[in-house]
Amino acid sequence: MPGDVEIAQLKEHLREVDDLRSAASLLAWDQSTYMPSGGGPARGRHLATLGRLAHERLVQPDVQRLVERLARRSDELDGVDADLVRVVARDVDRATRYPSSFMAMVTEHAAASYGAWTRARQLGDFGAVAPYLERTVELSQRYAAYFPEAAHPVDPLIDAADEGMTVATVEPLFAELRAALVPLVESVADSAPRRPALPIARNDEAQLRVALQLATDLGYDLARGRQDVTAHPFAIRMAHGDVRITTRLDPGDLAEALFSTLHEAGHALYEQGVARELEATPLASGVSAGVHESQSRLWENLVGRSLPYWHYALPIVQRSFPEFKALDPERAYRGVNQVRRSLIRTEADELTYNLHVIIRFELELALLAGRLQVAELPEAWAARYQSDLGVLPEGHADGVLQDVHWFAGLVGGAFQGYAIGNVLSVQFFDAARAALPDLDAHLTGGTFEPLHGWLREHVYAHGRRLPPMTLVERVTGRPLTIEPYLAYLRGKYLGAAATLAAPA
Ligand code: ZN
Repeated sequence: MPGDVEIAQLKEHLREVDDLRSAASLLAWDQSTYMPSGGGPARGRHLATLGRLAHERLVQPDVQRLVERLARRSDELDGVDADLVRVVARDVDRATRYPSSFMAMVTEHAAASYGAWTRARQLGDFGAVAPYLERTVELSQRYAAYFPEAAHPVDPLIDAADEGMTVATVEPLFAELRAALVPLVESVADSAPRRPALPIARNDEAQLRVALQLATDLGYDLARGRQDVTAHPFAIRMAHGDVRITTRLDPGDLAEALFSTLHEAGHALYEQGVARELEATPLASGVSAGVHESQSRLWENLVGRSLPYWHYALPIVQRSFPEFKALDPERAYRGVNQVRRSLIRTEADELTYNLHVIIRFELELALLAGRLQVAELPEAWAARYQSDLGVLPEGHADGVLQDVHWFAGLVGGAFQGYAIGNVLSVQFFDAARAALPDLDAHLTGGTFEPLHGWLREHVYAHGRRLPPMTLVERVTGRPLTIEPYLAYLRGKYLGAAATLAAPA
C-alpha cells in the first residue's frame, strides 16, 4: 500500500518527538522528587530546550505535508493508523497556530510567575503576584487570538485539555451541578474542623508500604512503575514500561498517604493499560484531562471510599498499624467520608469538591473575557466562597493563592477537567457495574481484576484513538451526563442507608 512507507516515516519521526518529551518527563519527575533546590534554574532551562526541540520537530513543514497527504487518504489506512493520522493532524494544527517564540515567552513568564507565587503564598501577599497574573491573563488572551474561530477566549484552552468541550457546553453543565450541590452541601456538611480520618502518631515507612500494597492490589504493576514521596502528588508516564506514582504523607493522618496513592494509582492504571502497540506515538496516553481524572476518582472514591472496599482494606491497615485494631469497617468508612465546608480544594470531600472547581472556572472565564480585573479577584473569590460554601478565607493563602494553576502557565483550561472527571467517574463505574453484577463482592474480597480488566479493555487500551466524548458514549451508552453522578451522591449522603451525616 502506498501509505505504508509514509506511515512508517511518520512513526519514525513521531518516535523522536516522543523521545524528547519522555526525557522531559523524567526531568520533571526528578524536579518534583529528588533534585536539590539548587538545580532549579538549570532544570527550567533543560525543560524549555527539550520542549522547544519537540515543538520544532512536530511542526516541521515536511512533517506537515506528510500528515496532510496521509489525511487525504486515511480511508486506505488501517484503523490504528487512521486514528494516528487524525490525532497527529489535530496536534500539528494546534502547535502551528503560534510561533515557538510565543511559547518560549510563556514558558519564561511562567517560571518567573511561579517563583513569585511561591514567595507570595508564604506571605499571603496577593499584591506581590498580581502584576504577574495580569501579564498571564494578557498572554492567555493572546493565545486565544491564535484561534480566531473560537467563540470564547477560554475555548482553545479547554479544547487543549478536554477535546470537543467549550464554554458553551461546560457552563450549563456546571450551572446544573452547582444548583444541585449547593443545597446538598447545605443539608449534609459540617462546619466543624475535619478530624484525621485515620489518626496516627508516627511517620515511617509503614505508611508508604501500606499505600503501595493497596495500589498493587488494584493492579498497579511495579515491574513497570515505582512509588516516591512528594508534596504535591502526581502520576507520570515515561513509557509503556515506566509509569510512576508519588504519595503525600501526613504525619498525623494515614488517610492522606492512602488516598493520594489510590488517586495517582488510578491515573497510572490508565497509562499502564494503554495498548503496547501504540507506544512512542501520540496515541499512547490518556485521552483528556476529564477522562483521566475520571479514572483517578473512580479508584479513589467509587472504590476507595466505598464501604465494601473498607472490609478488604481495614485488615491490611491493621496489620501494620495495630492502633486501629478496635476500628470496624463502618467507622473507617465514615471517617474517610467526612463532609466539611472548607477553604482548600485539594482537601475537599466528594460533595464539596466540585464547588471549589466551579468557582475557579467561572472566575477564569470572567478574567479572560475582561469582565473581572485581577485587582478585583480576591473580593470576587471571597464572595463566591461565601455564597457557595458558606466560608470566608482568612487570608489570600487560604484563598486565591492556594492553587498553582493560574501562576505557572496560562489562565484557563486547567480546572474544568477535575469536575468533568468526577461526573464521568460515576458514569464509567455504573457501566462497569452493569457488566459486573458481583462488583461489590469483588471489592469486599479485594478482587480488583474484574473491574481493572473491564476498564482496561473498554477505556485504557484505546489511549487517544477515540475522541474523549466518543469514548464516553461508546463505553457508557450515553453522552456525558450528570444524573448518574447526582444519584450517586444523593444515595451515598442522603439515601436510606446513608449514615454519613451522623458523626463518626
Ligand atoms: Zn488527578
